[in-house]
Amino acid sequence: MPRGELKLIIGNMFGNKTGRLMLEVETLREFGRKRVFIFKPEIDTRSGKGIIKDFHSKTMEASEVPARDPWQVIPAIRRKESEIGSRFHIIAFDEIQFFPADSPFYQVVDELLDRGYDVIAAGLALDFKRDPFGSTLLLFGLCKGSHDCLWLNPLCAKCGKPAALPQRIIDGKPAPYNSPQVHVGGKETYEPRCYECHELPGRPMPPY
Ligand SMILES: [Zn+2]
Repeated sequence: MPRGELKLIIGNMFGNKTGRLMLEVETLREFGRKRVFIFKPEIDTRSGKGIIKDFHSKTMEASEVPARDPWQVIPAIRRKESEIGSRFHIIAFDEIQFFPADSPFYQVVDELLDRGYDVIAAGLALDFKRDPFGSTLLLFGLCKGSHDCLWLNPLCAKCGKPAALPQRIIDGKPAPYNSPQVHVGGKETYEPRCYECHELPGRPMPPY
């Protein structure tokens, strides 16, 4: 079985990454007649249980996998394949930033590719502290070239330039640097900002 290929869809919040992922899956299913199995990390509760969802509230079914134990996708695929009596062609993942960088998610995707599955993965590149978010950027290492990665950034909510950073806002104010990276649900909001307009009170000074 030849090794599969990875397509990575990454960028900022509000870049319609999930919408793009669903478009790819829809095209593969409808026109390519491919079987696609979608996963998301269990920690993502914003979209609703057992589904992924885009801005326009379009949804697709997705199986949940523990963010710290992504190896569980292997038995889940095996179970589903024996249920439907045939093999999947493509494994899709949404919200891959929630697989921590020190989880084995990179190794799981590498193994899926070795086993001949194509993989499509979508996730947030950077967090509100301007730091790499979870496993997203690591997966670059499994792309064969830059054409395998689509970077989707929206425009800055303040100035309209391309916006790479998520601005976290708590009670109408820019969230301080020391607030936790993952806070799914709750009263906070986000908007896309460029580097010039991004605000991060309490960000430590560089050492030099
Ligand atoms: Zn701006």
